[in-house]
Amino acid sequence: MSGVDKVRRVDKASVFCERSTGIVRSGECGVGSDIYWMQKALTLAQSAESSDEVPVGAVLVFENRCIGEGKNQMISEKDPTAHAEIVALRMGGIVLGNYRLPGTTLYVTLEPCMMCVGATLHARIQRLVFGAWDPKRGAVESTCQLLRSPPPYHFIEYTGGILAEECGQMLKDFFRALRGKGEGIRG
Ligand SMILES: [Zn+2]
Repeated sequence: MSGVDKVRRVDKASVFCERSTGIVRSGECGVGSDIYWMQKALTLAQSAESSDEVPVGAVLVFENRCIGEGKNQMISEKDPTAHAEIVALRMGGIVLGNYRLPGTTLYVTLEPCMMCVGATLHARIQRLVFGAWDPKRGAVESTCQLLRSPPPYHFIEYTGGILAEECGQMLKDFFRALRGKGEGIRG
């Protein structure tokens, strides 16, 4: 359902991989499509960046409407768990009035870490869609495959690489600017 042509790339120099390109064909970016929701998540990532947070954004969708939004806010909230995905899941729980979130899809601009993949399993979401791969912390495919091995107690369908180039480029630009300021890498 991704509607994205998979184009494998080998770019060992890149911090955030683009294993596919977001080539958009007519009809693939309409309201409710994966690209549509990922663009919403990208807008949230941009907002995080403007607050000097690592630019990652997430939206939680239920019955084709957004019930949760999140952006990285660990620094501003002084909260190591305030990753975009966790923030979006918490909002979704409040909206649905339930700590389980069946039938939801979580869109996030970067492959989730172990904590966030764990949270999606606890929340019983239906589907996970992410943008760029994170070779250092990604726990869906990159460093481990938490959704598949060992077989988890809940099955989550997932798609990676939606608007991967845009999602990854935002992160690369952020860290490049940070290095330029001599502040080192956070996040
Ligand atoms: Zn995370």
